Amino acid sequence: MILISACLAGLNVRYNGTNCIDDRVQKLVLEKKAITVCPELMGGFSTPREPAEIVGGNGDDVLDGKATVIERSGRETQVVLKENSPSCGSAAIYNGEFNGTKIVGEGVTTALLRRNNIVVLSEEDI
Ligand code: SF4
Repeated sequence: MILISACLAGLNVRYNGTNCIDDRVQKLVLEKKAITVCPELMGGFSTPREPAEIVGGNGDDVLDGKATVIERSGRETQVVLKENSPSCGSAAIYNGEFNGTKIVGEGVTTALLRRNNIVVLSEEDI
């Protein structure tokens, strides 16, 4: 299976609601030889959204905490995720013993977003 940028397959997922269709790529998807993914939508963004660029380095640097992704207006991205979830928790998660006890910690999605310098809040913070 091939994983392909969704905008290349003709899906209108770019920041401005357009796509970058490539007929060869779209053919692979239509033939079910490839599936589409848009990392920015998976990361919690919606379409349309502000254009964003990496400031201070490249993707490796962002992962290492040395650079950041900034929207054109200068705003850093904030994400609000459900507290206590093993995916989305940002201040607390359950302790893994299935007895309703919470511990200080963050879920997997939150950890990934924070590694990418994205501020994660919970519904309790807004
Ligand atoms: Fe296309 Fe989404 Fe990748 Fe941007 S993040 S290039 S819109 S697939």
